[in-house]
Amino acid sequence: MVVSDDDKLHEECGVFGLWAPPDAEDAADEVYRGLLALQHRGQESAGITVGQNGGLKTEKGMGLISQVFSAGDLEKMNGHLGIGHVRYSTAGASNLANAQPLEGHGKLGDLAVAHNGTLVNAGVLRSLLEDGGVLFRTEADSEVLLAMIARKAAKGLENAVTEAMSAVKGSYALVMLVGDKLIGARDPHGIRPMVLGKKGNRWYLASESCALKSVGAETVRDVTPGEVILIDEEGPRSIEQDLANERATCVFEYIYFARPDSRIDGISVMESRLAMGRELAREWEVEADLVCGVPDSGVPAALGFARESGISYGMGFIKNHYVGRTFINPDQKMRERAVSVKLSVLKGEVEGKIVILIDDSIVRGTTSRRLVTLMREAGAKEVLFGVVSPPITYPCYFGIDTPVAADLIAHAKNNDSIKNALGADELSYLSLDGLKKALERKKGFCLGCLTGTYPIPPHKLRKVEEQW
Ligand code: SF4
Repeated sequence: MVVSDDDKLHEECGVFGLWAPPDAEDAADEVYRGLLALQHRGQESAGITVGQNGGLKTEKGMGLISQVFSAGDLEKMNGHLGIGHVRYSTAGASNLANAQPLEGHGKLGDLAVAHNGTLVNAGVLRSLLEDGGVLFRTEADSEVLLAMIARKAAKGLENAVTEAMSAVKGSYALVMLVGDKLIGARDPHGIRPMVLGKKGNRWYLASESCALKSVGAETVRDVTPGEVILIDEEGPRSIEQDLANERATCVFEYIYFARPDSRIDGISVMESRLAMGRELAREWEVEADLVCGVPDSGVPAALGFARESGISYGMGFIKNHYVGRTFINPDQKMRERAVSVKLSVLKGEVEGKIVILIDDSIVRGTTSRRLVTLMREAGAKEVLFGVVSPPITYPCYFGIDTPVAADLIAHAKNNDSIKNALGADELSYLSLDGLKKALERKKGFCLGCLTGTYPIPPHKLRKVEEQW
């Protein structure tokens, strides 16, 4: 399995979908541009499916979207509707067979699906379907969904989709092509984000609103938790169903995963990160010469901290943006080495100073320890470490790539021991209350890995409805 080189929680994927009137042919080009804006959500593989006259065509490959598709490839993919996917894998091996979108064919015609997130009970559903004679070609959860929809085809498209969705448990945002229709769905708690956009007579679905901007579309609204949207010549319409549950959007979308220029469920990611820094500054009375953000996601919070505390903001690090994000089976040493390749300290900025380093989170602590060491080697007099999330003490059961609890530095250690393990002079985490203040809402978020209380209790995640 390919795992990430850095010491972060990791998003699973990004999805994008477009429906344009039948005389359009440039769906591949638009999906490509949407995926470029979602590349931060997954870099292992990328794929696009386009549809024309009810037929589908899929191209995919390993690597970044710009490595997988050339301008010539896109020109050969004529279509008026399309879906696309960028992948970071936690379920299934990282290989081309598991890259998405996945195509299938059944009584409903040609189908293709791409999803972000994890269908937590996909394994159980897969073996039930296999018992019923279904042969699977990949390990991807998306293929299970395709098989489930195909199995209910006799009930018509809308019923087949809603029945499949009601059996699936977990966190997901998915896009699907069925003939000349684009379908989008968001999990019943809205754990993974999804937005609906519009440009003229074209409609879009995307994991994040930044992808809508990249194709010049406007955000119409967030897809609501449990909503299934079908888009065709009549525009978008919600398929009635009874899946919606209390909203529990993954709080790490705001802390780390999403791009700062996105809005999720009405909250600006950039504003929320600035506010997290501001709240930490209110909670942590500290004196220092300089505030530095750990690139990239620590930077907005560090700005918020600096503005609130009155301590100058400085550029402590230069990031090398050209280092690939994945290594095969990295051990701890490789992860630590990778930090020095990616980040370099600007000695002149920090030498002789008391420096506050602001990062979005601490997972294992390996990256944070290395950052503190780099700062000290560059001559910082003291290194104070500020974290704009509460300690991550529990694993994620919704597909985010977290280490087992024992490998989370905050699982068994208190603040003092973590501070010592990092080699920092001080350490302060943002409180849960501070985080909620920064998000301007007390409710509506999954906080499972911070509190141990999940929107779906882990023991219920594998339950499967009888009819499958
Ligand atoms: S457990 Fe944590 S990482 Fe997983 S969905 Fe909930 S908030 Fe996000």
